[in-house]
Amino acid sequence: MPGPGYGRVGEAERANIEDVLRTRGLTRYLFADPETQSWVRRFEKQLCQSLGARHAVAVNSGTSALVTALAGLGVGRGDEVVVPGYTYVASIGAIAHLGATPVLAEVDETLTLAAEDVAARVNERTKAILAVHMLGAPCDLEALGQIADKHGILLVEDAAQSCGGSYRGRRLGTIGAAGAYSFNPFKVITTGEGGAALFAEYRDYYAGYAFQDQGWPPGRELGNEPPGYTPTFGLNLRMPELSAAIGCAQLDQLDAVLADTRRVRDELVGALSLPPSAQLRPSHDAEGDTANVVVVTFDDTDHAQRTAKALDTKTLDDSGRHYYGNMIQLGPAGAPGALPKTDDLLGRSIALSVGVSDSHLGSGYGVAPDDSQEYVRAQAERFCEAAWSTAASGARR
Ligand SMILES: *Cc1c(COP(=O)(O)O)cnc(C)c1O
Repeated sequence: MPGPGYGRVGEAERANIEDVLRTRGLTRYLFADPETQSWVRRFEKQLCQSLGARHAVAVNSGTSALVTALAGLGVGRGDEVVVPGYTYVASIGAIAHLGATPVLAEVDETLTLAAEDVAARVNERTKAILAVHMLGAPCDLEALGQIADKHGILLVEDAAQSCGGSYRGRRLGTIGAAGAYSFNPFKVITTGEGGAALFAEYRDYYAGYAFQDQGWPPGRELGNEPPGYTPTFGLNLRMPELSAAIGCAQLDQLDAVLADTRRVRDELVGALSLPPSAQLRPSHDAEGDTANVVVVTFDDTDHAQRTAKALDTKTLDDSGRHYYGNMIQLGPAGAPGALPKTDDLLGRSIALSVGVSDSHLGSGYGVAPDDSQEYVRAQAERFCEAAWSTAASGARR
């Protein structure tokens, strides 16, 4: 099962899809009153309501959501955006495609942006910090927000992997000037392909909307142009009605999905008895973690590698295009060694699947939300056995 929402796709989604087919409302503007009849518009309103966002625009992928969020904020040529070297390649690609320069920064022990390293990379060209809530874990938004405020730059959240998560009681993606979600099957909830950009300010929402709809204003209703708005050609990144119909049914289940994965996460963590040389990943807000995975970080790289090998899984530096060192597009900036702290942490860390099982994310070993307590316990014990036995063999050498 890729993600926890995917596992619940069923009757509710089918009923909504049948409504789309019955009315042949395949795109958001094919209605007498799109504001009330379009599933895409309903999905956007439901996102605002259930997440506490001010403005939302639904698009056709998480990558589109990132580009829409950044374009809405005016990020473009000549700007620098600070982004972690541990993220999905799409976070970095979205910046580059707008003509801006991604500036890679280190992650901390939570595997999200290390605030002090971000501060060191901010200069007069920096326009924004792209904080990625990686593997469902909230970034240090207080520290990152302080840096943004101090320098008069924007804080943007890539919440693709953390839909429904929170930081100090506020949902991730709604705290910065803009946020981006993905609804691909490996995320918390899914529309097959899809995403959403969230905005705090109407003027940024207006510009973001125009970007994903060929320059049209929200709802294609002319006359609400914010002062100072510069018209854009935009692209067509619109979400199809069929996807939004699935999205509305998925969003209804978001809290149930999170409750399920968090319960299984607690069972798994409760059954782990790790050697003293291995620790659970710390958190900037443990309550807000979406429990996609449980990360275990070892003191020693060899120990982590041996444990991963025994379980036929990988350490996180080997998780494909989530590690900057595997992003050939970066050229010399992406040579392994550029971010030594990130290299070290990822090389010592293993992710056990809970909500999201994805070998490309490094979570090829673990459990799933619908596994029995016996199975969860057995998987925890197998992990610990591997961790203890590889520690001992390491010590003998
Ligand atoms: C999945 C993901 C994206 C991109 O989402 P898509 O829907 O696949 O385009 C962006 N950023 C992060 C951190 C992701 O995990």
